[in-house]
Amino acid sequence: MSSAPARAELVVDLDAIAANTAALRERVSRPLMAVVKADGYGHGLVPSARAALAGGADELGVAVIEEALALRAAGVTAPLLAWLNAPGEDFAAALTADVEVSVNATWGVDEVVAAARSTGRTARLHLKIDTGLSRGGATPQEWPDLVAAAARAQAGGEVEVVGLWSHLAYADAPTHPTIGRQKAVFDEAVGLARDAGLRDARRHLANSAATVALPETWYDLVRPGIAVYGLDPLGGDPSAHGLRPAMTVQARVLLTKRVPAGVGVSYGHTYSPTTETTLAVVPVGYADGVPRAGGNRAPVLAGGAQRTIAGRVCMDQFVLDVGDAPVRAGDRVVLWGPGTDGEPTAQQWADAVDTIHYELVARIGGRFARRYT
Ligand code: PLP
Repeated sequence: MSSAPARAELVVDLDAIAANTAALRERVSRPLMAVVKADGYGHGLVPSARAALAGGADELGVAVIEEALALRAAGVTAPLLAWLNAPGEDFAAALTADVEVSVNATWGVDEVVAAARSTGRTARLHLKIDTGLSRGGATPQEWPDLVAAAARAQAGGEVEVVGLWSHLAYADAPTHPTIGRQKAVFDEAVGLARDAGLRDARRHLANSAATVALPETWYDLVRPGIAVYGLDPLGGDPSAHGLRPAMTVQARVLLTKRVPAGVGVSYGHTYSPTTETTLAVVPVGYADGVPRAGGNRAPVLAGGAQRTIAGRVCMDQFVLDVGDAPVRAGDRVVLWGPGTDGEPTAQQWADAVDTIHYELVARIGGRFARRYT
């Protein structure tokens, strides 16, 4: 087998995913749903799911039913929840594949009931309450109707309400006053649902930030995503929470060239070296998920040092000014990784391009090969 290095690859450390999950699971001492939506936050849906389960995840969470079905098709048998369900969703396929689903509104209950009747299955249903994010979920005003519809369906045997849940707006700011307010709304909504007969449903509220910083939000189940992949949901050092970043993004230098001072580099000549120097061309660009905003801002490890991308990031490539360092075609450059070997971290990149590491890992891909270690 050839050991030739890939032109560009995402190296995913599955042991890190398993170890991160184990650390989180141990921290909360209660069931943990590892969130593997969006292709495992860019780390690969099925391998990430398997690694999280190996690390002790009790169940898995995804956004859309298609993601859940892909996991089932790959042989994953763990409990699965798909929560982002639009009108006309294929609930019948979800129920047939033993996938739990969530709804935000009474029309969702109607659709799930229809799917239960057509498949002869009882739907395992989660009800989402909007406690203050103003995104998914029934508002507190809509909640009594949603609960009543679900309670009727449960009495009819079409559904079993197994989850009552919400999502926090400011979990990454653990002292923010909205957290207490959202919790109060949540507790009241849960009380109302229980009074309506939905007594066995588990309560879940905590994403990664809440899992590491807000024990009062853990309830019956936690739902971490980004922390499973080893990134700090609070934007700091993940090792402070016993987490290890799982993704390394690397490429090989395509070519180098010696150029005089003053040449213009890449589109628009937004960078010019002030002395004679060596430029190294790296064959990945914004079509591969390398943010164009990284031009003249984002760091890359090349030739033993971190260097800022020189000039604009193009569709398929970008340029580095490596000075007099002995960088050659074929040499490895690292965009981001755990940060333990001199390479930038995803957090450093996020700071440089004014985004969050979630966006970087979820969007990187394109023509990068994936390699699992
Ligand atoms: N729960 C829901 C509803 C989500 O949408 C997400 C991700 O955005 C998560 C949990 C996991 O969040 P995080 O990756 O911040 O842990």
